[in-house]
Amino acid sequence: DPLLRVEQLHVSREGVPILQGVNLQAQAGEITGVLGRNGAGKSTLAYALMGLPAYAPSKGCIRFAGEDITDWSITERAQGGLTLAWQHPARYEGITVRDYLKLSASGAGEAELTESLELVQLAPSYLDRLVDKALSGGERKRIELASVYLMHPKLAILDEPDSGVDLLALGDILSLFRRLAQEGSGVLIITHREDVASQCHRSYLMCRGHIILEGSAEAVKRYFLSQCEPCGDNAPEMS
Ligand code: ADP
Ligand code: MG
Ligand code: MG
Repeated sequence: DPLLRVEQLHVSREGVPILQGVNLQAQAGEITGVLGRNGAGKSTLAYALMGLPAYAPSKGCIRFAGEDITDWSITERAQGGLTLAWQHPARYEGITVRDYLKLSASGAGEAELTESLELVQLAPSYLDRLVDKALSGGERKRIELASVYLMHPKLAILDEPDSGVDLLALGDILSLFRRLAQEGSGVLIITHREDVASQCHRSYLMCRGHIILEGSAEAVKRYFLSQCEPCGDNAPEMS
């Protein structure tokens, strides 16, 4: 059985159907990509997987680690090993990066914390910095990704992990995901960037609330670049 199996998932927002029968799977030890233009329904999928009440499916089923979690709360899913890195991370103003990271891995020692920062190319001195406005969006994002690494979740869902991170840093972030997968986690990367999707073991192309293609990252990237334009043109702009 795959770690995650989504079957015929339907999600509406304010009476408008957004996800319209999404099917996908993610395996432990692999990076799975969901590629789609702005407005395709990617964040909606992420929130539905994490169990946000406003995104409760009207139809369909989510199976995770051998259980039907469709009706589970966010807390139950988190305790079951599901983690979501938000597109716009929550702020924990005023606590140190060390304390923020320890929220993710209460037993972590100094060496582990330092290693997690190293994986996102931040110096150990960041542990004593405050999580506040003095951190750039990119630094904040890297710290959040370090915390996801420290959690060692069964499945990490990453909604646009590249947003706010400069191009140069992209390679570093991908190596963090590879490391997570090597250590046995499933990684689900949600992105509008075909260069990110092409680093995945397997990819899905999402368009207007449907998965329209499943296959190798290369095939999905090719299709995305050649055929998927209208999806972006007609979709409303969302941040
Ligand atoms: P993506 O993450 O791929 O950019 P979203 O999941 O954010 O896409 O949005 C998918 C679609 O759902 C968009 O057409 C958007 O306008 C619509 N949508 C998102 N949130 C709401 C909402 N609260 N009410 C109504 N429609 C929404
Ligand atoms: Mg969007
Ligand atoms: Mg989004």
